[in-house]
Amino acid sequence: MNVENSVMVYIQQDAGKIAEVSLELVSKARELADELGVSVSAALFGEKVAGELERIAGLGADRVYLVEDPKLRHYTPIPYSKLMIHVIREYKPQIVLYGATTGGRDLAPRVASRLRVGLTADCTDLKIGDHVQKEVEYRNILYQIRPAFGGNIIATIVCPEHKPQMATVREGVMRMNPPDTSRKAELVRLSSPLGEGDFPTEILERVMEEKTVNLKGANIIVSGGMGVGTRENFSLIRDLAEVLGGEVGASRAAVDAGLIGKEHQVGQTGTTVRPKLYIACGISGAIQHRAGMDGSARIIAINTDPEAPIFSIAQYGILGDLSEVIPRMIKAYKARV
Ligand SMILES: Cc1cc2nc3c(=O)[nH]c(=O)nc-3n(C[C@H](O)[C@H](O)[C@H](O)COP(=O)(O)OP(=O)(O)OC[C@H]3O[C@@H](n4cnc5c(N)ncnc54)[C@H](O)[C@@H]3O)c2cc1C
Repeated sequence: MNVENSVMVYIQQDAGKIAEVSLELVSKARELADELGVSVSAALFGEKVAGELERIAGLGADRVYLVEDPKLRHYTPIPYSKLMIHVIREYKPQIVLYGATTGGRDLAPRVASRLRVGLTADCTDLKIGDHVQKEVEYRNILYQIRPAFGGNIIATIVCPEHKPQMATVREGVMRMNPPDTSRKAELVRLSSPLGEGDFPTEILERVMEEKTVNLKGANIIVSGGMGVGTRENFSLIRDLAEVLGGEVGASRAAVDAGLIGKEHQVGQTGTTVRPKLYIACGISGAIQHRAGMDGSARIIAINTDPEAPIFSIAQYGILGDLSEVIPRMIKAYKARV
């Protein structure tokens, strides 16, 4: 199999734990590579991470380029960008995908600027298509699709003249395929091109804040918006989430107004979620909010405004005041269980 022209994914890890977004991107890379008739490769750097090969293969990678070194246990910009540039120069992928995480957003621009190639941040979709520019036709290039101008338009961005075409993609946007355990990938162990001088910084201590909200993993999310009115009223949203065994979400307007913490925000600049049930309470349904939840299996909307856009994507709409509707829902639910 030709190793050049692959669709490559940067596999983000920390202390041996692979970021979920990287696995989502391997699934997406498989889809793009099948359309292009090329292979999927993955770049993985860390300490004792070779054991992740099977998982990455199961999602669609054909080849994993691996550099293991105890000094690579955590991400630091200079060694990681040097390794990524080395792998790209050596194996010449046509597309490289990164998770739009803090680390991915730090790494990808460094690589792009060194290789003098384009980079589109925060894509919400990726497709393959043709493009004509100044009478030159470019075939099978990457359409890098993302909201622009405050979410008012969806822009398709192309970088046809320089390879690789690179994009970062937000967590939860691409679907992770069910793993195929029969799939195998070739492990290509690379000797590290890094010297002592490539580690100018050292991590002495890491202070981690415990994650208390798990919107991505929730089957049920009850979200509140500006219609909730006050910080105190958010207890209604929490109560409903609690009886249903769900998580509490929020619109950005509710977060900005200080009704609830940012870690609860759903949407374009918050978390992208796909729960089995999403209950939107007092949320109008602006496009930036919908971008983060319209993949939910079932949507219930509670709103006093019959014209609220959220009703256009909800399977069930309740026209009414949430301060009356929610207590009745809780009562009805408790009566049935
Ligand atoms: C670049 C950019 C990124 C953004 N990212 C996000 C994002 O990630 N997530 C996000 O949510 N937004 C985002 N926004 C903001 C978005 O455009 C909206 O402003 C926001 O989603 C509106 O929040 P809301 O629906 O809570 O408030 P509103 O639009 O004010 O809607 C409140 C709703 O509550 C209803 N209501 C009022 N009282 C009651 C009641 N008692 N009972 C029931 N219903 C009631 C009203 O009819 C109304 O529909 C972004 C905007 C920009 C420009």
